[in-house]
Amino acid sequence: MKIIMLGAPGAGKGTYASKILAPELNVPHISTGDLFRAEAVSGSELSAKIKEIIDKGDLVPDEIVIDMLKNRLGQDDAQNGFILDGFPRNMEQAKMLDEITDVDFVLNVRLADEIIIKKIAGRRICRKCGYIYNVADIHEGGIDMPPLLPEKEGICDKCSGELYQRDDDAEAIVRDRLKLYYEKTAPLIEYYEKRGIVKNIDVNGGPDIMRPVILKLIGKA
Ligand SMILES: [Zn+2]
Repeated sequence: MKIIMLGAPGAGKGTYASKILAPELNVPHISTGDLFRAEAVSGSELSAKIKEIIDKGDLVPDEIVIDMLKNRLGQDDAQNGFILDGFPRNMEQAKMLDEITDVDFVLNVRLADEIIIKKIAGRRICRKCGYIYNVADIHEGGIDMPPLLPEKEGICDKCSGELYQRDDDAEAIVRDRLKLYYEKTAPLIEYYEKRGIVKNIDVNGGPDIMRPVILKLIGKA
């Protein structure tokens, strides 16, 4: 099954992709953020350039992203499908993607901006394996989102790596990213709606609550 995750940054795309969809469907969760970080330290021809772009906080140019993605989609584990997270980010990328593959579903994750901001501020990531936790405890507007805590504070359950907060999870930066999302990425929802493949996920709880909802949407429950 080939799936694109859309939704504002922090709405929960990465969590649903990695914790629910990828294991359930047995397809890789392909996050362009992870691809960039891996490429930056790979020593490849591209790596110095990517590292420079990321360090400056700039967006990686579309042609480079699509090349890396094409590469990734060509690998063995992606032959039965994939879940794309962080791509496409704009109309140009969506059109480029149309040239290399089709998709079955676009899952559009919806959550109010103010909740997103609280949730991102609580995000903690494992430095070693990238697993995502959250220390925010949100109960408002019909939404119950308990924290996702590791057993030992500051330490990853999976690999004992150190948990950290990304610099770009600060509120001002999150607000900028939301603005950019509404300008550049949100119009893609309409683009895919015309094909009838968009499924909306209205987030009202943590992954345990959302799991059956999401599986039902893609016909797996
Ligand atoms: Zn870990």
